[in-house]
Amino acid sequence: MYCSVAREALSARIDGEAGPVPAARVDEHLESCADCSAWFDRACELSLRVDLSAITAPDLTADILRSAAAETQQSGYVGRGQAG
Ligand SMILES: [Zn+2]
Repeated sequence: MYCSVAREALSARIDGEAGPVPAARVDEHLESCADCSAWFDRACELSLRVDLSAITAPDLTADILRSAAAETQQSGYVGRGQAG
């Protein structure tokens, strides 16, 4: 099997699509071709990273740190009950 065909099939596999050749043939090629094996590892890693960045959650870290710092500055225990 040509590397280009194997990689096309692997790319389809990562995307959850049916590849141009049977998966068993692709696995055979992976086992015998270090280049494609490394390529597949990297492709999986990239795919994972893309998936993670696709999940858009608001980053509240700065807000949380700011309010935590503000609370600390309001001198929690010492000032409470005495002010006013
Ligand atoms: Zn190959």
